Amino acid sequence: ELEQLKTNFISTISHEFKTPLTSIMMGTSLLNDGTVGRLNTEQGRILISIEEDCCKLSNLVDDLLYMSKIESKDAAYDMKYVSINELVDEATKPFYIQSASKGVSLHVVTPLNLPKVYVDREKIIWVINNLLGNALKYTNNKDEISVGASVQNEKILITISDTGIGIPGDYLEKIFDQFVQVENSDLEIRGTGLGLFIAREIVRSHGGKIWCKSQLDKGSSFTFSLPLNNSTATKI
Ligand code: ADP
Repeated sequence: ELEQLKTNFISTISHEFKTPLTSIMMGTSLLNDGTVGRLNTEQGRILISIEEDCCKLSNLVDDLLYMSKIESKDAAYDMKYVSINELVDEATKPFYIQSASKGVSLHVVTPLNLPKVYVDREKIIWVINNLLGNALKYTNNKDEISVGASVQNEKILITISDTGIGIPGDYLEKIFDQFVQVENSDLEIRGTGLGLFIAREIVRSHGGKIWCKSQLDKGSSFTFSLPLNNSTATKI
């Protein structure tokens, strides 16, 4: 009950934040495009930092809202049989341009004709998007990201690997907890620390697991499993 109260509280607060935040962002955008008068250089500089902070807050509010939706006991899962190849292709598509513009190569190495899996398509796409988004955040020019899938022991395994900055060993379990971020990672590229927590909630709700292997300065590899039989569907 306490957990549910906490989830409802986070959800309410996030909603309350959303409206004024949207209006602040609209205001800064009006000031920025000069509609209401020209700004001098110093004012423009201050406005840019307000916009960046609004953007961070907006991402945090979106993640909090999504987290409370996923954690709510009435969380709705729209379960269907989905082709894994299609799922991976759809989730990867938006990242080709972003990775190319950063000089990072992105490969999908999934065997053809993988079996169908019984999942909530949008939520599993969200998980892959989040892992790819992280891979891109923590890689640099000339690094590589690959997405693979395989079948093992009645499970489908989906892996997103990168050759980026890597994660220290003592963080490998902790990073799946709420708001945990590796301390040394660049403050500029920090997100909200909620992505992996939400990803784990979604994967667990499907009866699967998620884990990470990594070596500092060599890269990271995140894998999640999904059961191939549909027995978990009834539990959702
Ligand atoms: P964030 O929004 O901060 O990325 P996540 O929950 O998705 O939140 O990730 C938690 C932390 O795990 C990140 O802040 C980062 O320190 C670390 N991390 C996640 N993915 C990677 C990766 N591919 N390479 C290096 N560090 C990573």
